[in-house]
Amino acid sequence: MPSGVESALSSLNPGRPLLIVDVDEVLGLFVAGFERFLEGQGYELRLDRFSLFGSIYRQGETDLANVDAAVMLYNEFFRTGVEDMEPTPGAAEALASLATHANIVILTNAPDHCREPRARWLARHGMDYPMQINEGPKGIAVAALAARVTEPTAFVDDLISNLDSAQDVAPCVSRFQLVADPRLRPMAPTAPERHTRIDDWPSLGVAIAKALELDAR
Ligand SMILES: [Mg+2]
Repeated sequence: MPSGVESALSSLNPGRPLLIVDVDEVLGLFVAGFERFLEGQGYELRLDRFSLFGSIYRQGETDLANVDAAVMLYNEFFRTGVEDMEPTPGAAEALASLATHANIVILTNAPDHCREPRARWLARHGMDYPMQINEGPKGIAVAALAARVTEPTAFVDDLISNLDSAQDVAPCVSRFQLVADPRLRPMAPTAPERHTRIDDWPSLGVAIAKALELDAR
């Protein structure tokens, strides 16, 4: 089990509902932060498709950055730039309200070398909840976390692939899609018949509270 996972699990109160929540493009404006970082490196992001590595160009050039350069930039952002990311408006307030009656676990697919910068960023923006770093589809991690509580669980992510994975492995978990950056919203694949799509945190917080049956508490 990766380091940090056990501590995230052991902090859960099994008698409380559980919210599992992603970071990039959910709690934080990842793309906008990455875009600023790229500008300082001589690159630019052209947001004409919903593909991060398919949107990175050297400034002023017409050919995409090659995959090796894109991966290097992505990893370097998570090493040195990720703490400059802006939080998504309303996210910290919604989590704080939900946390009065629910467990919250942050489930992020950030590279493991980002653990400390990411934890500092969460704490600085009032979202100092247990964090679990994941790799790949999130369904197995969501199922393992949900199994630790006897009350309802909800999961929020921006990516359909992670929500589909949760549906496959942990179908009882309520699923919500939020895409934080308004520029990405029209491009982001969506599946409202499978996962509830709500792109603003105040409304999403209300929907999560209902799914977790917090109103009765
Ligand atoms: Mg994300």
